[in-house]
Amino acid sequence: MRQTFIDEPAHVAEIRDQLRRFVAAEAPREKRIAWDKAHSWPRDVYAKLNALGLTALTVPAEYGGAGQDLVAAVAVIEELAAAGAFLAGPYIHTAFYGGMNLSENGSPEQKAEYLPRLAKGELFFAYGLSEPNVGGDLASVETRAELDGDTVVVNGAKRWCTGADWADVIYCLVRSGPADQRYRNLSFLLIPTDTPGIRMQGIEHSNLRYTDSQDVFFDNVRIPASNIVGGREMWNQGWKLLAGRALDVEKIEISATAFGIAQAACKEAWAYAQERVQFGKAISQHQAIRHKLVTAATKLEACRHMLYHAAWLANEGRPCSVETSMAKLFIADTGVEIALACQQVMGAYAMSDAYEMERHVRDLLGMPIVGGSSDMQRNNLASLMKL
Ligand SMILES: Cc1cc2nc3c(=O)[nH]c(=O)nc-3n(C[C@H](O)[C@H](O)[C@H](O)COP(=O)(O)OP(=O)(O)OC[C@H]3O[C@@H](n4cnc5c(N)ncnc54)[C@H](O)[C@@H]3O)c2cc1C
Repeated sequence: MRQTFIDEPAHVAEIRDQLRRFVAAEAPREKRIAWDKAHSWPRDVYAKLNALGLTALTVPAEYGGAGQDLVAAVAVIEELAAAGAFLAGPYIHTAFYGGMNLSENGSPEQKAEYLPRLAKGELFFAYGLSEPNVGGDLASVETRAELDGDTVVVNGAKRWCTGADWADVIYCLVRSGPADQRYRNLSFLLIPTDTPGIRMQGIEHSNLRYTDSQDVFFDNVRIPASNIVGGREMWNQGWKLLAGRALDVEKIEISATAFGIAQAACKEAWAYAQERVQFGKAISQHQAIRHKLVTAATKLEACRHMLYHAAWLANEGRPCSVETSMAKLFIADTGVEIALACQQVMGAYAMSDAYEMERHVRDLLGMPIVGGSSDMQRNNLASLMKL
């Protein structure tokens, strides 16, 4: 039976109100523009945000969390992303890269060690999937891991390991057996970033500039075998962890970021069009501009429905690989259309750093690439839908 209408729970509406007040007070536009220029996120503001306890929303109550509430956690990302990636990014590094992944995939010991601290927002994780020679084709990762008694030895390199320079742990996909077996000999490791043998090099980029991304090099990095995600029995079983529920949630989390930013773009263009006067009237009264804005608003509404339907299915523990891939594909691609339409509405000022539109456009242009490209989602959907 399909459920098509559902009211947003009252506690989610309360979280939204709380975050809107927080963002207005702590992350005003001038600060967001400055953080973007500095490729940085505000530790002091984030510490105040963390005091609201929202990283607990992805952690079960038995490990000190609030019980997994994905709809609420997605609403948190949406509200934070309306202010750019400066607070949403760090939140995702804790609540999703850490809390969600370990809740799903951690061994009992790993859950006991990490989840209570993740629930309190005390730890940041970075995602180590991509490599210099590996983008979408994750089954081809080349970073090698070998067991040496009770130790795992890691050699190789990760690319685009965003936040590795300030995160505590890299959630790292490695090749743990012969390469020709592809899916059957991958493992995930928890690699503390202060382990000897790790070196990093920053990567500047144009989108999601809450931080530089990082190249991370592993030179005979030794970690305990107890850091194999899921425990020693999950050695060579990493693909199951990658393709499971955590991936569904990953698609929702990046879709929520895109949606929050697209919403901010619409809001800025809408307000601008009502203020800017040309040919004797506000440009919002010219039909071409009106049509652009209401079309963008309509597309945004479709994104909202896809996002929260997918989040609700995931929250209920229902199968949702198709819906989450559709949401990622649709929201990322539609986010680009919304960005370009809103950019047109603001004319020259969409290129100026006095406004946020130029950042919204940069951020949204990257969304069909990061977190599983649109083409990869199409491939997944064709396979999931048995085309
Ligand atoms: C700002 C930023 C932050 C990032 N952060 C992280 C991070 O924290 N951790 C991490 O692991 N990665 C991160 N990434 C990397 C990101 O996830 C990858 O860019 C993404 O997986 C795509 O890989 P690629 O860019 O190498 O593209 P490729 O895989 O090389 O693909 C290039 C193009 O070819 C297409 N293509 C490839 N194969 C196929 C196919 N079989 N069928 C159809 N089309 C295909 C793709 O859709 C794409 O359009 C980040 C990237 C950016 C830009």
